[in-house]
Amino acid sequence: MSKDRNNALAFGSKTDVGRIRDHNEDNLLVRPPLFVVCDGMGGHEAGEVASEIAIDVIARQAPTKLDADALGQAVEEANLAIFQAVRTGQGKEGMGTTCTACMVEGHKLVIAQSGDSRAYLVHKGTLQQLTRDHSLVQDLIESGEITPEEARSHPWRSYITRALGIDPAMRPDLYELKISGGDRLLICSDGLYSMVDDAGIERILNTHENPQLAADALVEAANDRGGHDNITVIVVDTPGGSDSEGGMRGGRSKAFAVSLIGILVLILALGAIALNFWMSNSIYLGEVDGRVAIYRGVPDEMMGLASSEVEEVTSVALDDLADIQPGTASRIAEEGIKCDSLDAAHNLIAQYEEKIAQKRPTAPSNANAPSAPEVPEGAPDLAATPAEGAS
Ligand code: MG
Repeated sequence: MSKDRNNALAFGSKTDVGRIRDHNEDNLLVRPPLFVVCDGMGGHEAGEVASEIAIDVIARQAPTKLDADALGQAVEEANLAIFQAVRTGQGKEGMGTTCTACMVEGHKLVIAQSGDSRAYLVHKGTLQQLTRDHSLVQDLIESGEITPEEARSHPWRSYITRALGIDPAMRPDLYELKISGGDRLLICSDGLYSMVDDAGIERILNTHENPQLAADALVEAANDRGGHDNITVIVVDTPGGSDSEGGMRGGRSKAFAVSLIGILVLILALGAIALNFWMSNSIYLGEVDGRVAIYRGVPDEMMGLASSEVEEVTSVALDDLADIQPGTASRIAEEGIKCDSLDAAHNLIAQYEEKIAQKRPTAPSNANAPSAPEVPEGAPDLAATPAEGAS
């Protein structure tokens, strides 16, 4: 797999259930150069199934090189897979998911998008929304009937007009963009931007140089403002630094006016140490004797180097995980899932344990519960029935 250039990408991600919902229907995929956010819907647990299917299909079908049409086809395959899953009894009728899939390589960005999960770009410190929401309020904004501010509290704000699982003939919007070194990409579910306005998102993205800290801070801000929905964010920094004066996030180069020769000498001297440090601080999930294990190091197929050791074998059985998240289980077994930190790995394990525990037969059944969970006034309701065009 060609990842040389993309290994220069720095990124961080976080998904969180929020403060109101009792489970997380969002899903994400972080596999450079591919980054995907899906926001599932359809009520009681079905949304999770739909978003998991979409992530799984896109992980398998996405191109390895930047290709907007091929990425769009992967999203269309994911759409059809959700209909197929309903026919075979997985999930339930009417389940669906948004999907915002991005690929970044060099100074190019392609996006395939359906629904109201968004991609933003911070260029020279200014946030701009790249994608157009497929939602009723977006249509009303564009026809001049309401303002963007009114849309935030509009009673129809939860209705989306396009998503996976609604129409077998769905076609995602495709974008091909040129970006600059030092630009920062944000992909997020509506649980972020419905709680934090664009000015707040921009401020946070400009405050934290480290993309993982930026992702953490965005989720924290959404929760601080109520956390009415599941929140998922991916932050990706393009390599190469700012190519112009006044670059974003604090003008990192000016403070270090070192000669080019000095930099080269420094790189040579520290290269081996840095490589060793990076490898020993890389964390991923893999398998040991049928259980999910946390590894420190790099999976073979990621670098062509065998350099990893088991940090911890968890209590999560791969078979149990396969029952609820087959795509995740197969990725763990086959290629490993990279984590941003040991804490992030433990968080993922805790989520798996929780979902497996919920599936155990001793748990009380909520099967007859209404599809839309109780959400307080003012909360975006993405669990409404997508078959009616609601998200
Ligand atoms: Mg949502």
